[in-house]
Amino acid sequence: MKNINCDVLIVGASSAGLGAALSLADSGIKVICVDKKNKIGVPVKCAEGIGKFFVDILPVKIPKKFLKWKIKGIAFFKDDFKIKKKGPFWEGYSVNRDEIEDFFYKKAKSKGVRFILKHSLISFKKNKDKTINSVLLASNKSFIRVFPKHIIAADGVDSKVLKLLKIPKKEKITGEIVNYEVRSNNLELIDYEQIYLGDFAPNGYGFIFPKSKTIANVGVGCINYKGNIQKCFKEFMSLSIVKSQLKGMSILKDKSKTAIFGDQLYKSVHENVIFCGDVANHNFKPFIEGFLPSFISGFTAGKLVLSGDISALKYDALIEESLPGFKDTKVLQKAMLQVFKEKSNLRNNHLFLLSSGLISPEQIKSVNFKKSESIIKKNCSILKEF
Ligand SMILES: Cc1cc2nc3c(=O)[nH]c(=O)nc-3n(C[C@H](O)[C@H](O)[C@H](O)COP(=O)(O)OP(=O)(O)OC[C@H]3O[C@@H](n4cnc5c(N)ncnc54)[C@H](O)[C@@H]3O)c2cc1C
Repeated sequence: MKNINCDVLIVGASSAGLGAALSLADSGIKVICVDKKNKIGVPVKCAEGIGKFFVDILPVKIPKKFLKWKIKGIAFFKDDFKIKKKGPFWEGYSVNRDEIEDFFYKKAKSKGVRFILKHSLISFKKNKDKTINSVLLASNKSFIRVFPKHIIAADGVDSKVLKLLKIPKKEKITGEIVNYEVRSNNLELIDYEQIYLGDFAPNGYGFIFPKSKTIANVGVGCINYKGNIQKCFKEFMSLSIVKSQLKGMSILKDKSKTAIFGDQLYKSVHENVIFCGDVANHNFKPFIEGFLPSFISGFTAGKLVLSGDISALKYDALIEESLPGFKDTKVLQKAMLQVFKEKSNLRNNHLFLLSSGLISPEQIKSVNFKKSESIIKKNCSILKEF
């Protein structure tokens, strides 16, 4: 078995891990990034919508050629109502996530980060002071033991690092997302992300995110849902305005996966382990936008290591600084978790109002069903056509 020493071991080479790798690259310390995948960026399990807001604040600029499809804003639909939101905070891009991750990967590699692919972290040994002493990586052919000074856990919603650490955890709140990349010649409103709320998606929404005139990511995501998510998707597909757009569609890729919605961790730093990205719930609600926020979260974890002051307090402060609006998204998350407990009519209205920004999380408690209906009627137009 091979033994390797390093300063930082990053577990996971998706957006959070690549962010960490790029913040540590060039710093003169020895960095290893491990992932069980065969190839960086694939398979893509993402609807590939990114906000311009995050593109603009990203510490590593994404070349324009990767910002494939401009999105002017988000169109929200509920029953017979629609509202289009555009401008700052609503505009963005549809991208090919694998291309962007490949770009980050090559950049980090060229700056000295060593990547070990096709290897999973399977166990680790602790020192007496509870810090991790060494980590065992396994492929189907061999084992590698790594002795890292620090570990950045960027291994996603089902983090193995978190499982192995055996620290106290909060109840895990996740969302099941059915997501297909499809081709259809009947897409409408191709410069808007489309979000649909209704009974078909308890605690969630249906979506159509166009990537071009004829390609879109389409799906349904439901939080804390124990029912059959494929059934939700089927019902979503039968809505007349969805059906008309996706008539005769062909499915190109299945991108379905579980997403994190709530905090699992009490603290994002434990001894010599720093958690980032989805495992630390560093994504933005209401839509679990995590691709670029996770990158920034990982980048921040790297900066924390370089600062030499590796404390949860400092990390939280750095996260709030590097992810503007992160505090607000926590407030929204809390409000949404309350809304999920409501009866379906009020819940759908509240989710519609919250996600379209028509009411703030602070206002939600004072908006009963009647009032929610009147706000929707006042602010939205009747859906006759797109
Ligand atoms: C279906 C779906 C659609 C989404 N759509 C969007 C969207 O449109 N826009 C957006 O911004 N966000 C979206 N998100 C959220 C976004 O994808 C996540 O927030 C983001 O991927 C989190 O990045 P991460 O690096 O923390 O985790 P992940 O992307 O999950 O990466 C974790 C990495 O760790 C590796 N790994 C795991 N365990 C081990 C191990 N034991 N050893 C070695 N490697 C390991 C995995 O192979 C993986 O590469 C979506 C999520 C889902 C599920």
